[in-house]
Amino acid sequence: MTQVPELFGSMVFNDAVMQERLPKNVYRSLRRTITEGTALDPTVADVVASAMKDWAVSKGATHFTHWFQPMTGVTAEKHDAFLSPCGDGTVIMEFSGKELIKGEPDASSFPSGGLRATFEARGYTTWDPTSYAFIKDNTLCIPTAFCSYRGEILDKKTPLLRSMDVVSREAIRVLRLFGKEARRVTATVGPEQEYFLINKSDYAKRPDLILTGRTLFGAPSPKGQEMEDHYFGSIRPRVKAFMADLDEALWKLGICAKTEHNEVAPSQHEMAPLFATANLASDQNQLAMEVMKKVADKHGFVCLLHEKPFEGVNGSGKHNNWSLSTETGENLLDPGKTPMENAQFLLFLTAVIRAVDDYQDLLRISVASAGNDHRLGANEAPPAIVSVYIGDELAEVVDTIISGAPHDGEKRRAMDIGVTALPPIPLDNSDRNRTSPFAFTGNKFEFRMPGSSFNIACTNIMLNAAVAEVLRDYADELEAAKNFDAALSALIRRELTAHERILFNGNGYGADWPEEAARRGLMNLRNTPEALVHFDDEKNLRLFTSLGIYTPEEVHSRQEIGLEEYAKTIAIEAKTSLDLLKKQIIPACIAYSGDVAQGVAVKQSIGVPAESETALVRAITDKTAALMERTAALEAAVNAAPEGDMAGTARYCAETVLPAMEDARALADELELLVGQDHWPFPTYRDLLFYV
Ligand code: ADP
Ligand code: MG
Repeated sequence: MTQVPELFGSMVFNDAVMQERLPKNVYRSLRRTITEGTALDPTVADVVASAMKDWAVSKGATHFTHWFQPMTGVTAEKHDAFLSPCGDGTVIMEFSGKELIKGEPDASSFPSGGLRATFEARGYTTWDPTSYAFIKDNTLCIPTAFCSYRGEILDKKTPLLRSMDVVSREAIRVLRLFGKEARRVTATVGPEQEYFLINKSDYAKRPDLILTGRTLFGAPSPKGQEMEDHYFGSIRPRVKAFMADLDEALWKLGICAKTEHNEVAPSQHEMAPLFATANLASDQNQLAMEVMKKVADKHGFVCLLHEKPFEGVNGSGKHNNWSLSTETGENLLDPGKTPMENAQFLLFLTAVIRAVDDYQDLLRISVASAGNDHRLGANEAPPAIVSVYIGDELAEVVDTIISGAPHDGEKRRAMDIGVTALPPIPLDNSDRNRTSPFAFTGNKFEFRMPGSSFNIACTNIMLNAAVAEVLRDYADELEAAKNFDAALSALIRRELTAHERILFNGNGYGADWPEEAARRGLMNLRNTPEALVHFDDEKNLRLFTSLGIYTPEEVHSRQEIGLEEYAKTIAIEAKTSLDLLKKQIIPACIAYSGDVAQGVAVKQSIGVPAESETALVRAITDKTAALMERTAALEAAVNAAPEGDMAGTARYCAETVLPAMEDARALADELELLVGQDHWPFPTYRDLLFYV
């Protein structure tokens, strides 16, 4: 392997390459666009495009594409060759500023959630210079935003960039009150990515994994994760080779993959990159997921990014570590050491607490999908109820502020903001509450609800927007105050008191928590349809429109797409279940019990009693008959699905189709344990999870 520093970012048109290849004035102009968000000077674009093309060609690229994130959650690209005919039968490699800045993919095949009716099919993509271009598979990929011709946003990047702008704007106002002259505040994100690796040959024999990304059937393996021997355990050599290759591929793309380790479930692993700006982190995570799948393939694996590929063992999430920092690197969620630093920290902390409380529904919506529903509320994941964990030290501080009581026994006076220093807050202590969906981990918050296959843009749009709105209110109030210190203390106390209900340091998996949460008036949106109906609640529309992030139509379109995607996913799963039941599972049960029955007949014909086998035949026959009934019930449920109103269809899928599927599965899994291995039509959980 080449030296890592040489390798790192070698496929990225990054700042170093720009400095090297661009004329000074062009570089400066582009740099201004990147750091300050100023519009790009069109005369600069041609020069940049040409330098980018020369660089890409020198790295073996032949094509370019605008790389964008439509509302499906995946990334899209349309490749064009650099080739330009000269008219004499020869070609030259060309790439213009116009081609760099703007592309025109056909928008009609991407979901628009009803927006399509109001605009023509075409959309356009525009370069996002804040995310570096990179080379993938001999193609220069240019990160872009995607809009309709009438300007409606059709992607996840544009609203993310807007949310970053507004949170920056409002955070700067707050910092000014503390005498700080920040020019830009950036939302920073580090997504920890969980995944499963299974053998490609096993995958090929599981139509459910191929069609739906998860196993729709499968009895638990005799050994699961109960020994807890996989987490941070030694890594299988084949997996280690995969991880080494993955690191190298990610480093080339400038993705700072830092940690690779085993996770709790057998065959489950995690990749954590170093944090970056929210926009870059989101682009890079999309890219990382793609690279993981490709590298897995080279090693004879399939990388499963589904949230719940296997029942009975942990699912996969994506922990979204989030903070805010200034252009000089000051982390606004770092508690600091002096009373004044502490006061500023407490204000930002309070802002996040209120943002999460006011917009519990939006955070839940940002992680809602059929796949993630299996995870949220299940035993390993944060429950579907959003709450905030701040750790014992801060909880004590908050209590003191709210009650006005002396802090830390008799030694300290009442917590006087701006005067009294905070006790030291431990960084990321290991016994922190793993059951909390939204945990403060020393100098950042970790949102643990996102699913492993998610585009994290949506979560960060919600977070940035909600925090921006609160900071705006705080800045309005504090700018108008005559005595800043007094106003600050009063505000923090009032706000923490008003939003204390969202703070929960207890066990999020506990059976009593949902009841307690209900008493506190917290939302418990148990599944995707239940969550998504709140997307266009009055307060949410007000948030998005007042910050200029989404129009009401854009919110409705996203709501519609989410519901439709949910209903389609359940429908595909149900049809795949039916297919497997009718064509593979039931026939296998019939064949096996038939074979055993024949053996019984032969034995009995020579006078050998065969009571146990007879009992087995009877058991399988009875269960198979019951399974056939449940299969028919599932089919009837699928056929009776209502059409028209998307929210109604989605609800029906959650309440009627999904339970019918689970009923059939339960019996099929029991039968799996009775039928001989040679007869069972596909690899079992043991085969899938405990390969060598
Ligand atoms: P763990 O949660 O497994 O203990 P770490 O605390 O080391 O791991 O970090 C988890 C992730 O949080 C990493 O991706 C890291 O880069 C990211 N992170 C650290 N600081 C920040 C920050 N200020 N803003 C956003 N993400 C951060
Ligand atoms: Mg973590």
